[in-house]
Amino acid sequence: MKIGVLALQGAFIEHIHTLDKLGVMTTQVRKPTELEDLDGLIIPGGESTTMLNLANNFELFEPLRTVALHRLPIMGICAGMILLAKTVSNSDIKTLGLMDIKIRRNAFGRQKDSFETDLNITALGDKPFPGVFIRAPLIEDAGSNVEILNRLPEGTIVAVRQGNMLGISFHPELTDDTRMHEYFLKIISSNK
Ligand code: GLN
Repeated sequence: MKIGVLALQGAFIEHIHTLDKLGVMTTQVRKPTELEDLDGLIIPGGESTTMLNLANNFELFEPLRTVALHRLPIMGICAGMILLAKTVSNSDIKTLGLMDIKIRRNAFGRQKDSFETDLNITALGDKPFPGVFIRAPLIEDAGSNVEILNRLPEGTIVAVRQGNMLGISFHPELTDDTRMHEYFLKIISSNK
């Protein structure tokens, strides 16, 4: 199995470290040819506007859409989830438009409003998952084909799955807990 991590900007090294721990082969993706022969792709957190500009400059925008439309499993974290969303309610950025979700960027406030909280995510088992939220987006609305994996206590949706795509508001790669990555690996295995 080989997983690509989009490495234009943001927290990509941390995902490579997590996947190293899990014994999975990884490759950093900066050019269209590096999307070939992947079993899965992670779009990391960072700054969605910058990442989209770079994806356009590196001629990756259409190739990313193409591999997704060919059913490559993709996990989008934070800014990565924004890139996957069909709609962003408070920004006119042109996303990849792959998941039936409506996102609000920077929904919890500014950098200083970043926070950490335990999340109960049934798909990951009984033990709470450490949710690290950094200028995080939230999911305002999700299509009927989208599975809600987690909501904050007041109801805000922060983790979703649509087929073999995951959209996550928080940063599993910044914790020692590898269960979200393992869950993604299971999606990849059942995709074959
Ligand atoms: N605030 C960033 C954005 O809107 C996302 C932050 C993150 O990825 N941690 O792109």
